[in-house]
This record gives sequence, structure tokens and C-alpha cells, in this order.
Amino acid sequence: MEQTLSIIKPDAVAKNVVGKILSRFEDAGLRIAATRKMQLSQADAEAFYAVHAERPFFKDLVEFMISGPVVVTVLEGDNAMAKNRDLMGATNPKEAEAGTIRADFAESIDANAVHGSDSVENATNEINFFFAQKEIC
Ligand code: ATP
Ligand code: MG
Repeated sequence: MEQTLSIIKPDAVAKNVVGKILSRFEDAGLRIAATRKMQLSQADAEAFYAVHAERPFFKDLVEFMISGPVVVTVLEGDNAMAKNRDLMGATNPKEAEAGTIRADFAESIDANAVHGSDSVENATNEINFFFAQKEIC
């Protein structure tokens, strides 16, 4: 069964909509195989977003991701990676389709409520970044 990584970002955790977002995943047929609330360190956030290290928004992105706790989740199901990306909507919530998580819960391209792995290969790496095998069940 395909797996992908979701992060409910600090803005959505602060808004107290963790349960509402997790319900979107379950309602779409995805299963929660692992989940944890945690506070990322600067080193965690820099390592997780290393692919964006050269981008102009990298420093702001890291600062935002450590501005409060996040909820990291392994989602499992048919086409889990693509299904999660569909549920999330476009990176910029102003461009996100109605009914998507970002359209409904996000304010800006920086504070955009959720992260989702963007390929099955990255999903495996991102899941291993946060979870031990015995935590995924
Ligand atoms: P994520 O990786 O968080 O799931 P994404 O895959 O939709 O989002 P990426 O291109 O991977 O988007 O960018 C990672 C994150 O960096 C975005 O979620 C957003 O918070 C931030 N970001 C991306 N582009 C910009 C930008 N032009 N200005 C500011 N922040 C940006
Ligand atoms: Mg991305």
C-alpha cells in the first residue's frame, strides 16, 4: 500500500484545526499509519527542506516551520501521495481550488497549512526522516 508524509504546519496547529484536517484525509479513504505532534528544531527544518536551501524564501520557510508545533502523519492508501496533494490544493492558497485544505484553512503562500510529499520516492525519505518502522502500523 502506498504511503506519503503529511505535515500540518504551525499556522493550522495554532488555529486548532488538526482534527478537521486529519478528517479530510480519512474521509478521502486514506488511513493514518502514524502520527505525532512535535516541535521542530532549526536543524530539523533546515534538513527537511534542504532541497529548497538555495531558494530566496528558505530562511523564512525554516523560521515559519519552527514557529510552533507541527503534526507529522504517515498517510496510507491507493495513490496516497497524489491523493494527498489533491486534498491539499495549490501551494498558494489564493490559487487553491475550493474545498481543498489550503483554500479552507491557509492564509498565504508562507502560512499554507500543510505539507505533502511530492513524489513516492521523496515520501519514503520524508517518512524515514520522522518515523521508525515500528511506529508505522
Ligand atoms: P510543501 O513542500 O510545503 O508541501 P509545496 O510542495 O506545495 O509545499 P514547494 O514548492 O515544495 O511547495 O515549497 C515548499 C514551501 O515553501 C511551500 O509550502 C511554501 O510554504 C514555501 N514557498 C514556496 N514557494 C514560495 C514562494 N514563492 N514564496 C514564499 N514561500 C514559498
Ligand atoms: Mg514541496
